[in-house]
Amino acid sequence: MRFKFLFLFFIACFSNAIAQHCATVQYQNMLYQKYPQIKEAAAKFEQAIQQKAARLAMARVEAGQADTTKLYTIPVVVHVIHNSSEGIIGDSGNISDAQIFSQFPVSNADWRRQNTDTVNTPAMFESVATDMKFEFCLASRDPNGNPTTGITRTYNPESSWDPSQDAQFKGLAYWPSDQYLNVWVVNLDGSYLGYSQYPYGNLQGLPYSSDPGAATDGIVIDVYAFGTIGAVNFPGNPYNLGRTLSHEIGHWLGGLRHPWGDCYCCDDYVSDTPLQSDANYDINCNADSTSNCNGVVDIMMIQNYMQYTGDKCMNMFTLGQKQRSRLAFWECPRRVAILSSPGCCGQGTNASFPLVENFEQNDLQTNGWVVSGQDSLGWQYAPYGGYGTSARSITISNASSDSAEDAYLASPFINFVTSDEPYLKFDLSYAANSNGLTDTLVISYNDNCTSKWNLLTKFYGQSLVTTSTLQNSFTPVADDWKTIYLDLSVLKGINGTKVRFENRSAGANNIYIDNIDFDVTSQTVQVSVYPNPTNDLINYKALYDGNFAVKAELFDYVGKKLMEQDATAINNYIGALDLSTLASSMYLLRVTVNSKTTAFKVIVAK
Ligand SMILES: [Zn+2]
Repeated sequence: MRFKFLFLFFIACFSNAIAQHCATVQYQNMLYQKYPQIKEAAAKFEQAIQQKAARLAMARVEAGQADTTKLYTIPVVVHVIHNSSEGIIGDSGNISDAQIFSQFPVSNADWRRQNTDTVNTPAMFESVATDMKFEFCLASRDPNGNPTTGITRTYNPESSWDPSQDAQFKGLAYWPSDQYLNVWVVNLDGSYLGYSQYPYGNLQGLPYSSDPGAATDGIVIDVYAFGTIGAVNFPGNPYNLGRTLSHEIGHWLGGLRHPWGDCYCCDDYVSDTPLQSDANYDINCNADSTSNCNGVVDIMMIQNYMQYTGDKCMNMFTLGQKQRSRLAFWECPRRVAILSSPGCCGQGTNASFPLVENFEQNDLQTNGWVVSGQDSLGWQYAPYGGYGTSARSITISNASSDSAEDAYLASPFINFVTSDEPYLKFDLSYAANSNGLTDTLVISYNDNCTSKWNLLTKFYGQSLVTTSTLQNSFTPVADDWKTIYLDLSVLKGINGTKVRFENRSAGANNIYIDNIDFDVTSQTVQVSVYPNPTNDLINYKALYDGNFAVKAELFDYVGKKLMEQDATAINNYIGALDLSTLASSMYLLRVTVNSKTTAFKVIVAK
C-alpha cells in the first residue's frame, strides 16, 4: 500500500499548500539555485516569446515551420530504473513492457485530441481545444542504429529517488537527448508524480551557455503514474490513466506552464486558458470550480492537461498552448534536432496481424509490398495457386531467363514489438530439372533504416524442392506445393521491419510462392489427456485462442504411427481415440495445435 497520494506536501515557497503533483517547478528552482543565470534567462524567455511571438510566427511562416497542421513524431526511450536485484518484471519498480506500451496510446491520443473523453470538454472551451499535432513513438532504433524495443532496464540498489538525485539516476541510463525524448521511470520519493526539464535554446534570454545540460534533458515519471496497467492499479489512484506523461510532455516539448503560472494568479503566458488563482487538485472533476483573481471570477479550465487535477478530469490542450509550444520547440536546438532522429525509423506504416498476401489481387504495392522487377524478368503473378482456395501465386521464371538474378519481393513494415511468437508461413513450389539444382531463395529481414539485410534462412538444392516431379520450366499442380513455417522470434521486439524473398537465379527452374502469412501466437496452448491409464478411449482436450487445426497422433514404443486424427476448431477441441484394440503397453500421444506439440505417455492397461 502506498500513501503518496493521500497526503499533501507543504512547501514554504508557495503561498498555498500543494501536493507535488508535478515537480517541474521544484526541479526548475533547483536548477535556478545551481545556475542563477538560468532564472534571469527564463524570465527573458517569457518576455521574448510574448513580445516576439508575432515576429517569430512570421519568421516561422517564412521558414515553413509555423505550419500548425504538420504532424511531428518524437522518438521516446523509456529507461526503467529499478531495484529488483534479480531483474524480476513487476518487482521493485521493474515495470512490465505491457505497462510501458499502455502509456503510448494515451499520450498519442491526448496530443492528437483523439482521446475518447473529448466529449467531457465543456462547450465553453470547445472552440479553443485542439490537436497539438505531435505524436510519440517508442523508439525502434537505438543510438547505434540497432533495432530496439525502446526500453532500457537498469538495476540500482536505491529503492526510491528524490529529484535532488536527478543527475545521479539519469546518469544510469541515457540516450542523446537531441535524438530521443528520454523518459526515466523511477520510484519517486514523496508525492511526486513526475517532472520535466524545460526546453532551452537560442531565443533571446535563453543563451545556450545557460543550458542545464543535455544529459538530464527529459522527463521523469513515477512508476505509479506511468501507463494504465500494472503498478498504477491500486485502489483510489487518481493518476492511473497515463495523463502524467501527457502533462510532462507539455513542459518538456514546448515549455508549457501550469495554468495558474505557479504563483498566486500568475500568468501561464497563454491567452486562452482562464486566469487561475492557484493549483487545482480536484480528482472528482467539478467543472463548476471558479477562481477569483483580484475580483475577476473565472470558471477554471480543470480539463487542461497542464492542471493538477485527476487523470479522468483532463481532456484538452488549447490553441494558445499549441502556438506557444510550437514557438518554443523551434527555438530549441535539441528539440528541433529530434525531428531528424532515426529513432522512429520504420514506423508509421506497420501492418497488423495476420498479415496475409495471397496474390489474388493486383494490390501488392497498395498493401505496401515492394517488388523489384515486376516484369517478364522479375517476380510476376502466375495462374497457379497454393493450398486452399488460391487461384494465383507469384513466380520468378528462372527457367526462361537468368536476368532476374537478384529480384526480390519485400513485405511492408511489420511491428513485432508486442508479438509473442512471431512466425512466417508461406506455400512454396519448386521442381528439380534435368540440369541440376542451383537456384536459391534467400529470406532476409531489414528495417529499411539501414541498407543491411540480415539472413533469416535460405532454400537451395533439396531444401528448395517441394515435389518429386522433374520438369523443365516447371508449372505446379496442387500436390507440388509445400507449406513452409519459419520461426521469426529473432524479430521479436522489433518495431518496423521488412522481410524479403530474394531470388538468386542460376537459370535452373521457376520458383512459386503463395499464401504468405505473418502472424503471432499470443497464447499458450494447454493440452490434457484422460483417463490415463485407459483400457478403451483416451480423450485429449486442447485449449487455445484462435481457429486452428488440431492434430492427434498415437505412436508405439518404436515410433510407428498407429493413429491420426485431424480437426479444426475455435478456441478449444476435445477429441477421443479408441485404444481398445491395442495391447497393454505404453504409447506416445502427440497433440499439435498451430505447430505447437505436446506429448504424453499413455498407458493401455487391460
Ligand atoms: Zn507540471
